[in-house]
Amino acid sequence: MRKRRPNYRLVKIHRSYTVEEAARLFGTHKNTVRAWVKAGLPTCDSKRPILILGRDLAAYLQARRSRNKRPCKPGEIYCVRCREPKRPAGDMAEYQITTVILGNLIGICPTCEGMIYRRASRARLAEIQGNLVITFSETERQVREIDSPIVNSDFSLG
Ligand SMILES: [Zn+2]
Repeated sequence: MRKRRPNYRLVKIHRSYTVEEAARLFGTHKNTVRAWVKAGLPTCDSKRPILILGRDLAAYLQARRSRNKRPCKPGEIYCVRCREPKRPAGDMAEYQITTVILGNLIGICPTCEGMIYRRASRARLAEIQGNLVITFSETERQVREIDSPIVNSDFSLG
């Protein structure tokens, strides 16, 4: 398989994109774009279909290029706007459960005050959490469609 890095310069920062539009823009598969969302690309997630702001998309793709050079330490979340790992404001984060085994750690960037996201499996949460104070929440199936169909009606935090 040919590995192409999506060119963030193609993104128009003043418009927003659906998953389909973003995929078409880079000539990539919709699932690739969904994977970016799952990995922390911010979306206007109260809306259906999901809308991605151009500036978030460009910042995210730019950040991906340097991400490996700046790995997050425990308790840190990568800010795509600042392009570096940050300790969330107040040392607090929310753990948003997306499936039985997966979730996102969400905090506020202390520098740009944007939302910052870090994917964290339940198994690795303790390790990723560092000394952050974490609150738990369940989502309204926002990202459920891209996960394997797990029935979680009997899943509780207890
Ligand atoms: Zn920031």
